[in-house]
Amino acid sequence: MKADKNIASLVRLLIILAFLSGIAIIALAGFGMHRIYSRQVIRMAEKQSILIGRLLAEQQRDALFTPNEAQRPQLQIKPAYISWLNQSLSDSLHPFDIVKIKIFSPDTTLIYSTDNTIIGEVNPQNKRLLEALDGASNSQLEVKEAMRDLKNETAFDVDVVETYTPILLDGEILGVFELYMDVTQFRKEIGDGTLQSLLLLSAILLLVYLIAFSIARSSMRQVSEAEERLRNLAMIDALTGIFNRGELMMRAEKEMSRALRHGPDGGNGELSLIMLDIDNFKQVNDVYGHQAGDEVLRQMPDRIKPGLRLYDILGRYGGEEFLIILPNADLASARIVAERIRSAVADKPFAIAEQSLTVNISLGIAGISPESNLTETINLADQALYRAKKNGRNRVESYQPPETEQVR
Ligand code: GH3
Ligand code: MG
Ligand code: MG
Repeated sequence: MKADKNIASLVRLLIILAFLSGIAIIALAGFGMHRIYSRQVIRMAEKQSILIGRLLAEQQRDALFTPNEAQRPQLQIKPAYISWLNQSLSDSLHPFDIVKIKIFSPDTTLIYSTDNTIIGEVNPQNKRLLEALDGASNSQLEVKEAMRDLKNETAFDVDVVETYTPILLDGEILGVFELYMDVTQFRKEIGDGTLQSLLLLSAILLLVYLIAFSIARSSMRQVSEAEERLRNLAMIDALTGIFNRGELMMRAEKEMSRALRHGPDGGNGELSLIMLDIDNFKQVNDVYGHQAGDEVLRQMPDRIKPGLRLYDILGRYGGEEFLIILPNADLASARIVAERIRSAVADKPFAIAEQSLTVNISLGIAGISPESNLTETINLADQALYRAKKNGRNRVESYQPPETEQVR
């Protein structure tokens, strides 16, 4: 019972652990996968933005560059070009999901923006801009609550990849484009991809857990069964399947002290012992063989048990002697029980190896008194048993106090 409880709590602990670790694994994996998919989208948008930036620099060469005194091209947008550029960029970039574009000169001045109102701002602290001026394109995914696109239409809750990419002309960095690419359309794909991967992972986890769980449970069951067998081995007599002497004495002590606690004269304080011995058992062995003797012993509990109550205790006391403890039974009721058992044995022959064998038993009864202990009471039952043998066997005798015997 105790082992079963331990196993149950161990199983509960395992389930809780599996559940918690499963949640942690899935949450971490979800976070990781979402990051991986998002990075892929950023990388793709960045690649496309860099390409678009290069094309723009080629295509809008005249509008963007003016030669300086040394006849070297310089990024400079003449005010007259601004509205033309607005139109041209809007037409050419809209199909590529570019929603905004900014152009910075090498001194970090914003020299063009599709939002014309902020032209002229200087951004010396913008690290990403400075990186791009050093030649390194870089991108970042931002979620915008609202975003006006090149066609002046406002979209809400948009995912935008902002890419800073250097403007190169003949290998020289002449400024930086900042391109805003709308990647909201990939949001669902990222979500779906993450969800599918998580579902797959959950299924694998569940399978692994189920296998591990069933292995753990079956080995725990084996351990508990082995434990149960060991426990039985320690308290059960191998031949008869009833309590062995050690277990019998332990239980007898317990019942004895319980009965004495309740007071031997009170209704609940009664306890009687029956000592039972097979008559002429040596002869059974001698005539029919030791195996037959064993078989008689093995069958004996089946004759005794039906005469007992559920809480009476039966054990093998020694060779062919059995002891029965009858809690809450006075001598008179113990005698009725003993008589019932005697006739259950004597009235029906034992079937042993296709032979019919009549076996008799003698029984001695003793009850407890206020000052008794177990050894003494067993001794009294033994004395009664001795009288039963002396008076002709196949009979029941109770222990009589010496005075009573004298009166008789
Ligand atoms: P009584 O009526 O006086 O009790 O006579 P008895 O022959 O039964 O008594 P005795 O004490 O002389 O012999 C008991 C026999 O029980 C001797 C022993 O070989 C036998 N015996 C004890 N344990 C076992 C056992 O486990 N198996 C078998 N087959 N015989 C056993
Ligand atoms: Mg005997
Ligand atoms: Mg004996």
